[in-house]
Amino acid sequence: MPGLPHVAETLELYDTPASSTVSTVSRNGVASLYVCGITPYDATHLGHANTYVHFDLLVRYWLACGVDVQYVQNVTDIDDPLLERAQSTGADWQDLAESQTELFREDMTALSVIPPTHYLGAVEMIPAVVEDVERLHHLEIAYPVAADDAAGDDYYFDIAAAEQRTDWRLGSVGNYDRQTMEQLFPERGGDPQRAGKRDPLDPLLWRSARQGEPQWPGGRLGQGRPGWHIECSVIARRHLPAPFTVQGGGSDLRFPHHEFSAAHATAADGVALAERYMHTGMVGLDGEKMSKSRGNLVLVSQLRSDGVDPQAIRTLILTHHWRQDWPYTGQKLRESEQRLLRWKAAWQQAEDRQDDDAGADDLQYALISALANDLNAPAALTSLDLWASGHLAAGTSRTRVHHVVQALLGIDLSG
Ligand SMILES: [Zn+2]
Repeated sequence: MPGLPHVAETLELYDTPASSTVSTVSRNGVASLYVCGITPYDATHLGHANTYVHFDLLVRYWLACGVDVQYVQNVTDIDDPLLERAQSTGADWQDLAESQTELFREDMTALSVIPPTHYLGAVEMIPAVVEDVERLHHLEIAYPVAADDAAGDDYYFDIAAAEQRTDWRLGSVGNYDRQTMEQLFPERGGDPQRAGKRDPLDPLLWRSARQGEPQWPGGRLGQGRPGWHIECSVIARRHLPAPFTVQGGGSDLRFPHHEFSAAHATAADGVALAERYMHTGMVGLDGEKMSKSRGNLVLVSQLRSDGVDPQAIRTLILTHHWRQDWPYTGQKLRESEQRLLRWKAAWQQAEDRQDDDAGADDLQYALISALANDLNAPAALTSLDLWASGHLAAGTSRTRVHHVVQALLGIDLSG
């Protein structure tokens, strides 16, 4: 997609490690983005959609500036939650992963999310994961732990060794203190009680094959399957420059996932994984975070089959700043549907003046300024309200307004 005319790149983004908004620039006209993908079961709830729609604004901003965007996303198509769900429903885990991945991609298309340049599954990257874990073991930053229920050893990442030999420090990415990390670790898939670990927070790199579980050849590690954080670390480093521009995901990925993906990368290559870390807010329902484990999900596919316009779902999401936690209500969705209809009605009535399009200029300037300022989607939507109610400059090229809004916000006023 060609850039918009007269748009210079001046992007400020809130960075979790810095705890502040920092200037973020592409390198030689290339910006690189990795956003952690789904584990494909119960896809796609509004919490997922919130993350991918907000990062889509970042992609659209860069494209508008004429920047070449390299965007990689993974799908965790092998992990404990997927296997547990397959077992509890009697489904084949591969069929479950494939069908839910397909549904996720349909939902993203419906929400006008520009697809990643590369979309990779964990399973196809296992040989590269094995290579990295063997390397970390060779560097004495990974160590084996005997498993009672497996023939081989599990392999863990040695936090203390990594801190001694690299620039990474525990907490330097997720920006939590040790006490908070100890509290979060078991809630988010960690195993602090595992006997034989050097530090309770040491994360799993390679899980030795258990009876009845899927397994792959692991070279010197023996048969098994990868841990979660090494998966993203390997996928990102095999497909993006090092360091890449932005690592993104929901705020529940600050620790342990992004902390350790970054640690693995620095330990294996001696180079930081990413320059910036962005964490999107959580969507709640009835006072709780929307999550699979709580079962309080609003699915995009369900809203679509109920006849909700996906553009209204996108509008609802963009009503909130990307860093904000927000509760979903049916009332909010209806308000977004009405707001979208007002924009479309204004566009239908607008003229297509070629001689004077100051209104389109004003709108483009307002939208770009809002996005450049830490992707301020609510401010961008307010500017669209102002345009629709005739409060921007009078002259308007309807064609250009359509193009600008489509390019920057992914909203189709003619639809
Ligand atoms: Zn990830």
